[in-house]
Amino acid sequence: MMNLPSGENLEMNIQDLMIPSERVAHVQVGNTLEHALLVLTKSGYTAIPVLDLEYKLKGLISTPVILESILGLERIEFEKLEQNRVEDVMNPSIPRVTLTSSAHSGLELLVNHPFICVEDSDGFFEGILTRRAILKMFQQSLNSNEK
Ligand code: AMP
Repeated sequence: MMNLPSGENLEMNIQDLMIPSERVAHVQVGNTLEHALLVLTKSGYTAIPVLDLEYKLKGLISTPVILESILGLERIEFEKLEQNRVEDVMNPSIPRVTLTSSAHSGLELLVNHPFICVEDSDGFFEGILTRRAILKMFQQSLNSNEK
């Protein structure tokens, strides 16, 4: 539950708002950078989660990070796309919330991140919470108040 400046209470639950893991584009530890670039390009996202073989959250991989890693001094070293693995270049320090975190804590993290990964208490990946989901919820709440 969150209190709005208007005094209204807003019911927000991370589980209800998140995109569930089965609908989240992701890559796994051991995948090549080439595979990650394919998934990123085809999905249309610039950053996606990296999971281990047990589906535990390990980090985030993004197109800028991959491109930066193949930039040589005089040329783009395309061969590195096949040689290097996502865990070599991913960002392992990412903001996370658990299913039982308050939606308020998710909202605070979303100020600086376009999406937040959600995991269960054992670190298994459950899904993501996006800015779009939060904005949609606020919009629906405003619309229903106007009626
Ligand atoms: P949005 O708020 O919908 O624009 O999403 C913000 C960010 O969340 C996107 O730029 C992606 O990096 C990530 N994202 C959203 N939906 C998905 C998805 N289904 N699979 C993987 N990443 C996603």
